Amino acid sequence: MRDKELYAQILGIRSPWCVEKVELLSSVGEVKVYVVPEAKGMFPCPNCRAASPGYDTRRRQWRHLDTCQYKTILVCDVPRVECSQHGIVTVSVPWADPGSGFTALYEALVIDWLKETSTLGVSRQLNLSWNAIDGIMQRAVKRGLSRREHVSPKQLGIDETAFKKRHDYVTIISDPEAGIVLHVGQDRKKASLKSWYSGLSKEQKSAIESVSMDMWPAFIHATLESLPNAEQKIAFDKFHVAKYLGGAVDKVRRQENKALMAEGREDLKGSKYKWLYNPKNMSRKQKSEFKTLRDGVLKTARAWAIKEFAMSLWHYSSRTWADKGWKKWLSWAVRSRLEPIKKVARMIKEHLWGILNAILLKVSNGPAEGLNSRIKMIKVRSRGFRNKQRFSNAIYFHLGGLHLYPEGVLP
Ligand SMILES: [Zn+2]
Repeated sequence: MRDKELYAQILGIRSPWCVEKVELLSSVGEVKVYVVPEAKGMFPCPNCRAASPGYDTRRRQWRHLDTCQYKTILVCDVPRVECSQHGIVTVSVPWADPGSGFTALYEALVIDWLKETSTLGVSRQLNLSWNAIDGIMQRAVKRGLSRREHVSPKQLGIDETAFKKRHDYVTIISDPEAGIVLHVGQDRKKASLKSWYSGLSKEQKSAIESVSMDMWPAFIHATLESLPNAEQKIAFDKFHVAKYLGGAVDKVRRQENKALMAEGREDLKGSKYKWLYNPKNMSRKQKSEFKTLRDGVLKTARAWAIKEFAMSLWHYSSRTWADKGWKKWLSWAVRSRLEPIKKVARMIKEHLWGILNAILLKVSNGPAEGLNSRIKMIKVRSRGFRNKQRFSNAIYFHLGGLHLYPEGVLP
């Protein structure tokens, strides 16, 4: 008798359900706990809660948290009722979500593990199949998204990230202030971003004060066509501008290094990362080595100086002065005779309006960088995403700011 009460306590089985018997299968290291309804007869319909007569039962099993190292399985012949409105339906049980082979507490355990380690790690730790874990993750995200309160961000961040190594992308829409991902789009096309915008109310659209993004035409046009006064809200932030200029410096270095090596000179050999580091983060020795490099007459040093000048042009609080500063930079960059720099300069010239917006709206690049590195980590952790949907789910799971636990499990 006592084991029934003990298991009812452990499993949180309460009226109108009770533990009928407990079976210990020591040879396989399992405990089976049989749960039954206290009374036969009427049960609430899962859709409308109307008391309805029992129709038949279906045997179901759920894995629960291990008890004393025994794999613990909950077994119940779940009644089906005949509701006058909804027909023959399976009643809902309080210990598990519909469609899950795990109890709510077990799912919560898996969710906790998933936050700490990869699917592979959880699979090893809990001896669960990849598919079972994936199912728990998918249900968690679905629950979380359906519970998400009405959000009205003041700032938006729109970015793309590659799925696998192919040129296949997803769009990440985030709320940089809250540090959460709001939406994962399945491509980086104008139509899909427009369709996300169209789901916002008029009030939500007007509440958006800035939209920080890359200089990507699809994002720009979708935003221009969807938000009021978007030409004052679109911000090409420092992070994205730095990315292009950093790429240009690297291109100049590669070309120059090739030319120098052909003459037998090793001035630039092994210097790739020196040009990419922020001098602020260098050791004293690195700094002095780098100083020699950048004070030299190399083209790479000139490209680097042009980039650094651009990086210093983000402090303005007046559009006129910001405009003057950037025009000065542009005239230097286009006359630099460094083709990769000139190319980026032309792009910056065309998008200067949005760069000035970023400066005046004080859009910070911290959130974009932070979110990108966390998405990178998700990618590394989950080598072998077989499809985009799984990748999107993992992003929502880790970065969606969602309440993921099953109903009744306290966070
Ligand atoms: Zn009903």
